[in-house]
Amino acid sequence: EVAPVAGGGVTVTAGGPPRRYDAVVLALDSGGLRHVVSASPRLCDARWRARIGRLRSAPPFLVSRLWLDRPVAADRPGFLGTSGFGGLDNVSVLERWEDEAARWASRTGGSVVELHAYAVGPGADRAAQQRLLVEQLHRVYPETRDARTVDARHEWRSDCPLFPVGGYADRPTVRTPDPAVVVAGDLVRTDLPVALMERAATTGFLAANALLAGWGVRGQTLWTVPARGRSAGLRALVRLARRD
Ligand SMILES: Cc1cc2nc3c(=O)[nH]c(=O)nc-3n(C[C@H](O)[C@H](O)[C@H](O)COP(=O)(O)OP(=O)(O)OC[C@H]3O[C@@H](n4cnc5c(N)ncnc54)[C@H](O)[C@@H]3O)c2cc1C
Repeated sequence: EVAPVAGGGVTVTAGGPPRRYDAVVLALDSGGLRHVVSASPRLCDARWRARIGRLRSAPPFLVSRLWLDRPVAADRPGFLGTSGFGGLDNVSVLERWEDEAARWASRTGGSVVELHAYAVGPGADRAAQQRLLVEQLHRVYPETRDARTVDARHEWRSDCPLFPVGGYADRPTVRTPDPAVVVAGDLVRTDLPVALMERAATTGFLAANALLAGWGVRGQTLWTVPARGRSAGLRALVRLARRD
């Protein structure tokens, strides 16, 4: 539970006695944030709490990592986004960019390949999905058909935020009604053109900056591409056109 303290600050209770802090950054996935807020009935106000209660997680995703006894073709890229291969969304050849996989591949002469499938139907047969993903790999990189799988890991999670069409305005922002409470993470709405890890990191900086500003301390400067048209004249024309 996170609870406000009269005069500013919060207490955080997590499996022990409440501890007092000047401020808190809530940097959780959608399910975690909903859980903490529902356990914190005095946090912020009812409108904000209802907004958090409406957050949803995207359908489950599968990450399959395969250790193969022979290398993929030398010209295969480190990362390949795919479309038209069933549920397979991308293929990574890990030894191209990850130290541990590179060491394993050079020691054994094999390849470490990772397959991702996002937004799998919640009722899907998981073992069948895992098999289908490997079959799609065989279509994308045919040289893997004859490879022996030395080891395999299939990880299922469902902790990505869901962004429904038209849901932008309802997402939480970094600032909350309580100046001692800020929110960071991929689920957070920000006007900067960022997403995924970049949004998580950017809103982390914005959350720190919001708290530091309250103590009169300068935070981190964030650089971005322009967030609006650069010509005042053209912006005025667009505004006029929108009125028609
Ligand atoms: C398979 C896959 C591939 C991806 N590839 C890319 C990529 O190539 N590039 C990219 O930019 N992004 C990628 N992403 C997205 C990226 O991982 C996320 O955008 C990023 O991790 C979001 O960070 P976050 O801090 O918002 O949330 P998370 O990283 O989900 O962190 C939330 C944290 O909150 C913790 N938590 C939850 N509940 C509680 C609780 N009750 N109490 C305490 N702690 C709790 C969790 O344990 C977790 O550590 C990928 C995601 C997936 C699933």
